[in-house]
Amino acid sequence: MSDAFTSKVLIVGAGPVGLVAALALSLNGVKVRIIDKLPAPAVGQRGSTIAPRTLEAYRLLGILPDVLKLATPFPEIQDHSPDGTPGRRFSILPRLPPSPAVPYPNHLQLGQDYVAGILREHLERRCGVNVEWGTECVGLEQDGDGVNVAIRKGETDGRLKVEYVIGADGAKSMVRKLTGFSFEGETAADTRMLIGDVELSGFEGESTDPAIRMFKDDDGNNIIIRPVPERPGLCFIVSRGPLLDIPRACADHAYLLSHIRFLASREDIKMGAECTVTEWHLNVRMANTFQKGRIFIAGDAAHVHSPTGGQGLNSGVMDAMNLAWKLALVVRGAAIPSLLDTYSTERTPPIREMLNLTTTRTKHNFALKRTADAAAHPLAFRMLGVHCRGSDIVNDELVVDRRTEIEEVSAYGGEGEDTGRVHAGDRAPDAPGLRDADGTERSLFDLFDLAKHTVLVFDPALVDELLGAVQTFEVECIQTLLVLEAGSASCTSPRGVQVVVDFKGLASQAYSVAQGTRIAVVRPDGVVGGMLKGTKGVNDYFARVLNSVA
Ligand SMILES: Cc1cc2nc3c(=O)[nH]c(=O)nc-3n(C[C@H](O)[C@H](O)[C@H](O)COP(=O)(O)OP(=O)(O)OC[C@H]3O[C@@H](n4cnc5c(N)ncnc54)[C@H](O)[C@@H]3O)c2cc1C
Repeated sequence: MSDAFTSKVLIVGAGPVGLVAALALSLNGVKVRIIDKLPAPAVGQRGSTIAPRTLEAYRLLGILPDVLKLATPFPEIQDHSPDGTPGRRFSILPRLPPSPAVPYPNHLQLGQDYVAGILREHLERRCGVNVEWGTECVGLEQDGDGVNVAIRKGETDGRLKVEYVIGADGAKSMVRKLTGFSFEGETAADTRMLIGDVELSGFEGESTDPAIRMFKDDDGNNIIIRPVPERPGLCFIVSRGPLLDIPRACADHAYLLSHIRFLASREDIKMGAECTVTEWHLNVRMANTFQKGRIFIAGDAAHVHSPTGGQGLNSGVMDAMNLAWKLALVVRGAAIPSLLDTYSTERTPPIREMLNLTTTRTKHNFALKRTADAAAHPLAFRMLGVHCRGSDIVNDELVVDRRTEIEEVSAYGGEGEDTGRVHAGDRAPDAPGLRDADGTERSLFDLFDLAKHTVLVFDPALVDELLGAVQTFEVECIQTLLVLEAGSASCTSPRGVQVVVDFKGLASQAYSVAQGTRIAVVRPDGVVGGMLKGTKGVNDYFARVLNSVA
């Protein structure tokens, strides 16, 4: 079989990251193929902790309502003393109230197999794209106009040619190896544990109490059991300690059950038929670039690390969101290919920081005798502060001191609420309380668009000039929103401009109008591209991102 350019982009790997890339590209009008070597979708909880930043990405992708139907709040932890009696109950993730700028402040839980199922359903129903199961990428070669890909489906070998390839094929990525990406880091074979999904019954409150159970002895042996709300009876377990023979527990489920009973001091715990456990050991690696020519890597293919803090899948979602809009613009001819270089330059600093954060915490936790002493997760794990302020394409005209506002801010540290104001490169905040021409109340998150830049104009006097400035670029990639102050004289909507009244003043507050912002640009991935004083800044921003059509 041979197939040349029938699709523009091939995504290798239909895990959650490949699926997010496929959905985001498809919703941007790009024809994609997505293949996976597995015969059918993978099952298993793994990346079940969904960070607030990811919930915002899911909203842009239009899958959030389906995720919220199934997801549950991150549970508390119920510790037990070595004799099995319930002890301290605590939370490692703080529960915060929503604010106008941050409507989803808390982590949620949903098994990654369920999230992947939702993504596949949307991809099929809304975009007509089906995952091609049982199809493996076995060879890659770039030439001047694309990538030649060798694929294997059962006994049949085939070739296809696409303009770009995204390797979202997990930690052992074939795309990464075939393309020659480096994958530097450390493997700590002694920092290891047993993980997996097991049907368990017999511990108290199992059907009513969603808390994560933590059992341990005095010698550093412990097990964490998290009931899976969307699959009653199923539990996600993590266990480690000198007594546990991990290879044996993977092969001999009676031995695993006896170990669980021993740690929980309960002989009545029972194990059902479903038991998928595996050995995990600490492997901390990342590629030094996520792009080589027309080939990109994303998610676990680009970075592997400890599951502590639940940052892996969440970071992969941010990779895919960062790449998709840029690739869509380039494929459509609306942007020059050098825009794609910023995928790697924007994503590698936060990933490097994430590897440091999660490895430090994992080593700290493994060094503890009592797992209950594990510290609460920092707020940074919400990922709301992950930013790309130093990116060549963002434009912030309000910066007073580059060193303290950009260069010295950690890659996870750009939470506008903490640092005084939102900067270009930060997550774009929400703002409810906007009344549109029909009198309907909207929020900025209702209006942001995965396939468009949103230009927020806070000064009506700039609208005509702005429309002139953006005419130079492909206007289909841009939507303009005039944000009027409450009580301002009614303003007829110029052609192509949506007008909203910021009757609570929350949008002007979120985008620092008092500090001098007159126009803000929000990228399709929900990142602020520009904090600007006038239309020249808009022109400068789009000149870095889009081709001029003049
Ligand atoms: C115990 C544990 C707990 C975790 N908890 C969290 C958490 O709470 N939150 C979080 O964010 N992350 C968590 N993670 C990490 C998370 O599971 C991963 O980051 C996530 O699975 C990465 O998704 P992915 O799509 O990049 O890769 P994968 O899910 O590995 O998917 C890759 C896909 O590519 C396919 N593939 C591989 N090679 C080929 C090929 N040559 N051709 C075609 N297809 C191929 C595979 O079959 C697979 O389906 C956890 C991980 C572990 C181990």
